[in-house]
Amino acid sequence: MIEVENLTKRYRGGAAVDDLTFTVEPGRVTGFLGPNGAGKSTTIRMMLGLARPSAGRALIGGRPYAALARPLTVVGALLEAGDLHPTRTAREHLRWLARSNGIGERRIGEVLEETGMAAAAGKRARTLSLGMRQRLGVAAALLGDPEVLILDEPVNGLDPEGVIWIRNLAKRLAGEGRTVLVSSHLMSEMALTAAHLVVIGRGRLLADLSTEAFVAAH
Ligand code: ADP
Ligand code: ADP
Repeated sequence: MIEVENLTKRYRGGAAVDDLTFTVEPGRVTGFLGPNGAGKSTTIRMMLGLARPSAGRALIGGRPYAALARPLTVVGALLEAGDLHPTRTAREHLRWLARSNGIGERRIGEVLEETGMAAAAGKRARTLSLGMRQRLGVAAALLGDPEVLILDEPVNGLDPEGVIWIRNLAKRLAGEGRTVLVSSHLMSEMALTAAHLVVIGRGRLLADLSTEAFVAAH
């Protein structure tokens, strides 16, 4: 489970995230919906300890990210600007992440298989297509077999096959009882992916309800 409590991020010009409170429950895909600039990435970066809240807190499995001993075994994330070292191969990237999380070589092979990246494991990051980088990002997120998955705008720029692959993956992981948060600015995509929606605008919570109820009300 993810718990967001009065989470706030202020910048000089105002607040990117303004007193957000919601929980993300296991066993269903939760869509994190809002237009570009609404504060989705900033919220996710605070969940992952990549940005410091101005106020409030975000807990993953009951703890702040910084308190997780082997974070990748608790939460896996696909971030928008995934930082791949350009000359590192796909396998080397996973090894680098695995090392500090006590994850073995065998699991690296499994996630490469699972994401269709086995044949490309020896390719350097800079030679991978966007779709393959996205698959590698998913492989990294799955590496620690985490209970919580956070995917930030995962279908941006993907071809139709990639979009459907991500959608089915999110649903399968939620079906296994995991907590899955997928952000998007596209209602059409969220309607096909998410069972529940957390809707934000200008950093504020606008709605927290089932996708069905949201669609019925609009
Ligand atoms: P989203 O992911 O929903 O597109 P973001 O979280 O990226 O939204 O951005 C929310 C708002 O915060 C935007 O108005 C953005 O310009 C602003 N913002 C993000 N990062 C910074 C920063 N480092 N300094 C100032 N403003 C920022
Ligand atoms: P560095 O010291 O190089 O910043 P980190 O271990 O802090 O290394 O993180 C490296 C990168 O791994 C982050 O910038 C982010 O893109 C990615 N990352 C962080 N947390 C997760 C996670 N839970 N799942 C997948 N990738 C993550």
